Amino acid sequence: MYSDVQLHIDGQWRDAVAGKTLPVINPATEEVIGHIAHAEQADLDLALAAAERGFQTWKATSPFERSKVLRRAAELLRERADHIAQVMTLEQGKPLAQSRGETLGAADTIEWFAEEARRTYGQVIPSRQSDVQQFAIKTPVGPVAAFTPWNFPINQVVRKLSAALAAGCSFIVKGPEDTPAAPAELVRAFADAGVPAGVLNLVYGVPAEISEYLIPHPAIRKISFTGSTAVGKHLAALAGQYMKRATMELGGHAPAIVFADADLDAAARELAGAKFRNAGQVCISPTRFLVHESVYETFIDKFVAAAREIRVGNGLEEGVTMGPMAHQRGLESLERFVNDAVEKGAKVRLGGKRRDGRGFFFEPTVLSDVPMEARVMHEEPFGPLALVMPFSTYEEAVKEANRLPYGLAAYAYSRANATVTALGRDIESGMLTINHIGLALPETPFGGIKESGYGTEGGSEAIEAYLDTRFVTQAAR
Ligand code: NAD
Repeated sequence: MYSDVQLHIDGQWRDAVAGKTLPVINPATEEVIGHIAHAEQADLDLALAAAERGFQTWKATSPFERSKVLRRAAELLRERADHIAQVMTLEQGKPLAQSRGETLGAADTIEWFAEEARRTYGQVIPSRQSDVQQFAIKTPVGPVAAFTPWNFPINQVVRKLSAALAAGCSFIVKGPEDTPAAPAELVRAFADAGVPAGVLNLVYGVPAEISEYLIPHPAIRKISFTGSTAVGKHLAALAGQYMKRATMELGGHAPAIVFADADLDAAARELAGAKFRNAGQVCISPTRFLVHESVYETFIDKFVAAAREIRVGNGLEEGVTMGPMAHQRGLESLERFVNDAVEKGAKVRLGGKRRDGRGFFFEPTVLSDVPMEARVMHEEPFGPLALVMPFSTYEEAVKEANRLPYGLAAYAYSRANATVTALGRDIESGMLTINHIGLALPETPFGGIKESGYGTEGGSEAIEAYLDTRFVTQAAR
């Protein structure tokens, strides 16, 4: 079921020029399940030349035709969803239903951008002279270099890829080395749908080597990165040095505020679902649970009860709702966060440790009364770890919610209209979902503020990241 993964350069699936490979590990069994081709400079040079040629072809293809190719890619993805889901679960660990959902969701994203391709409108600007016409026109920015992580192997690529292709850009993506086969299947769907050779190129290798080479390269006009804030700052600085446009989707440390008047059953059930999805390896995962002191213990009981329902295991097994961590370094980092918090006084309400035996499994974990000195109160845990703490006033909750430099996602539950309205104004985050879980649809904005990055990868603004606005004025003389 799991095949070795090649590079996709200039319309061909191929091994690396030097023949190097990297192993791929199944995080549920720790077995090597395949290998990926490992690109070096010679491969990148081929990809860059292909992307330059591909850009000339693709920008000359009408948005109407591009839209048709994108729609076909979405259809192929849906047809292949069962196979792709198996591949994704084998390499990433998430339960099959979540892998399938991610693949089908990617098809929806492609369709959204297929529609957007046909709406890349410019403007006619009224002129001061009767024989002058003024236009703002939208043109594709050029070849894109994208860098995407392993937590959503397809979803993280498809947002960038569909928007870029819809706009008329060519694309080189450095996919996630831990989870390479699912994104390769995404690329295959686009290639099979008729994306011309050179327009779409996929490479794997040493992330820093690839970004240091692609970002400064004169062929590349636009950078898009999803990953940690630390790496994002480095790549954004490099992009700035070469005056390249950049979109940065970085880390988060989402607050989830539960007010005294909230529907506590719904809040506990829905927030537990959001917290433990993909074993918490989600940039918008709720992490700091701020609960009004009058309902603090009641909420913890309900939340822990909901978390106990989670069945941890190999994502391929029927009934499993949470898989392993995607790799060993994530597991070890989580262990360090939990041990540090507990040493400093946090109370373990559920879980708190890795599972014995093979596989990178960590128990769904709930810590309460976590002291401010604990590292996890400041750094993103990126795992199945919920931190619960009490608050007494609205102002106190908002202050804690906004305390960190992150500003990606936030969650809240309250039945009071005044509270709900005030939160939209007061919470410093790129996305806020109140009384339900409603983030990350293709038609709604997706992105952070503050140190969580800049640019949106969803909604009607998303395609703008891949378009230049140019001004043309012409006199009929
Ligand atoms: P990491 O910071 O080393 O890598 C994160 C991602 O960035 C990976 O996909 C990696 O390939 C890529 N990367 C790293 N250095 C790079 C470079 N110099 N140039 C280009 N790409 C580079 O850490 P990790 O162990 O893979 O993940 C740990 C942390 O990363 C998590 O704790 C989380 O904060 C963050 N992360 C965020 C997201 C997200 O969706 N925003 C996804 C994955 C990881």
